Amino acid sequence: MFPTTIAGSLPKPAWLAETHKLWPTWKAEGDALAQAKRDATLLWLKEQEDAGVDIVTDGEQSRQHFVHGFLEAVEGIDFEHKVRMGIRNNRYDAMVPQVVGPLRLTGRVHATEAQLMRSHTTKKIKFTLPGPMTIVDTVADAHYGSRETLAMAFAELLNQEARALQADGVDVIQFDEPAYNVFMEHVPTWGIASLHRAIEGLTCTTGVHICYGYGIQANKDWKTSLGDRWTQYEAIFPALAASRIDQVSLEVANSRIPDDVLGLLKGKDVLIGVIDVANDAVETPEQVAETIGRAMRYVPADRIVPCTNCGMAPMDRGIAAAKLRALVEGARLARERAA
Ligand code: ZN
Repeated sequence: MFPTTIAGSLPKPAWLAETHKLWPTWKAEGDALAQAKRDATLLWLKEQEDAGVDIVTDGEQSRQHFVHGFLEAVEGIDFEHKVRMGIRNNRYDAMVPQVVGPLRLTGRVHATEAQLMRSHTTKKIKFTLPGPMTIVDTVADAHYGSRETLAMAFAELLNQEARALQADGVDVIQFDEPAYNVFMEHVPTWGIASLHRAIEGLTCTTGVHICYGYGIQANKDWKTSLGDRWTQYEAIFPALAASRIDQVSLEVANSRIPDDVLGLLKGKDVLIGVIDVANDAVETPEQVAETIGRAMRYVPADRIVPCTNCGMAPMDRGIAAAKLRALVEGARLARERAA
């Protein structure tokens, strides 16, 4: 009961990239950078194992950003002429690459990290990929002309990489869709249709991570504008419950999502965010167990997977490591109480 995992990303060591940034600059180039990425991946694999995390990730140490890391292996995208664009419904600006032609993968995207992990751990491994809707919201389209068509084109490429990751021995493939609570009206239609395209033919566990974003100021400000009860998910959970996706990952710690909304995800494993990534205070096991206890009122215990609210990429490295231990300790306490 209560196997633990993380949303995906972890902070990059200072020798790999700039710290505390969402789009950090790498500290090396060429072969030296490739080696540094491998070293950082192994370092976090060990940290997760030592903390006792059950389903481990590569900490996304090999990608500059969770969306653009995938795009770097896609033909038809111009990274030379980035444009400034308001993303997540203009919540904040980003410099984004442009789609300028038909999309095609130039080769494998994450073979190195996936194979490295598989050969160094016997734990279950999870791999994260950006979801089609979120990718569409993080690029400027100068070719396809429709967000829906563009989402399906990306979904096809994601599916290609996901099948290869499964063949590498990855146990769980998760698609990150923070855009799901921005473009809610499109989730039941092309949001889920593109996700289904992305998981076509997969036999491993599949998941989707939805959230209110990394702990950056623009997101914190946005969250304070959402009122006391975050009922946004009522509009999309029934569609997700009816989908073929196995798992849904959500932020619950310090969020204002009413507990009963979790009950709308019937039949799904729910990754309950018990670790706040927008706050440097390390949770106590007691706090973590309490969040799990709240979720248990609406989600069957054998469907609960304690997790972090979101990625920890921009956080302080030491704090992230301490939060990994808090996650595991808290799950252990909840297990004792439920026994
Ligand atoms: Zn997130």
